[in-house]
Amino acid sequence: MDGQLSSVTKLQEALTEAADLEVLLSGIPDWMEELHTEHSGRQAEIDALEEGLKAAASERRAAEATEGDCQEKLKGYQEQIGKVRNQREYGALLQEIDTVKDQIRESEDIGLAALEQYESLEKQLDEAKAAFADLDQRYADSLKKWETEKPEIARQAEEVSKTIVELEQALTPRTLAHFKRVFEHHEGNAMAAVRKVQQTGKKGAQIWHCASCNYRVRPQAVVEIASHGNLVLCDSCKRILFIAEV
Ligand SMILES: [Zn+2]
Repeated sequence: MDGQLSSVTKLQEALTEAADLEVLLSGIPDWMEELHTEHSGRQAEIDALEEGLKAAASERRAAEATEGDCQEKLKGYQEQIGKVRNQREYGALLQEIDTVKDQIRESEDIGLAALEQYESLEKQLDEAKAAFADLDQRYADSLKKWETEKPEIARQAEEVSKTIVELEQALTPRTLAHFKRVFEHHEGNAMAAVRKVQQTGKKGAQIWHCASCNYRVRPQAVVEIASHGNLVLCDSCKRILFIAEV
């Protein structure tokens, strides 16, 4: 595993680039991010208004159906008035009629409120849609532009894949296997830079830390990395250490 650090560093860089390109290709580019957020937000508002409209319409239909049932009942009770045989039956029937009349009024109120809600939402929806038209067009144009940029990104991704194969082939199988283990263990980033820590007070003493976990790196390890390009793992986080070019 000696002397292969620079190839391993390049391999990590290529793998990172490949992953970034893949994310980019399956998503949207940075320059569309803001527009995309605005577009999704406005679209969600419109969707919510449309849902509200549906709910108000269905509430109104339900209130009308209830009212219709109550009207039927009322008609039935009114027909019975002529057939009552005594004061007690008459009183009971009047009671029923009062109750059903209350229910009719209640259904009318609910239906009217639902209608008002519907009309208000409809107005809001019209306004939201009118305001959305321009944004929607800009978004569609941007998507079209992004589609024309994609093939170039895909070409870059293909190039990077080739580079990855070449770099992997240049490593000894043992080093490659070692790198892959660390790469997978650390979910795609096997490397950690070595950072020189400013030392005050002590003469000539230099202290090095792992930039990833901040654990101290032995001076001997720094020599092995800097002078021989050897693969040395951080004692703490077990990433492959490298010295970042200044
Ligand atoms: Zn570390």
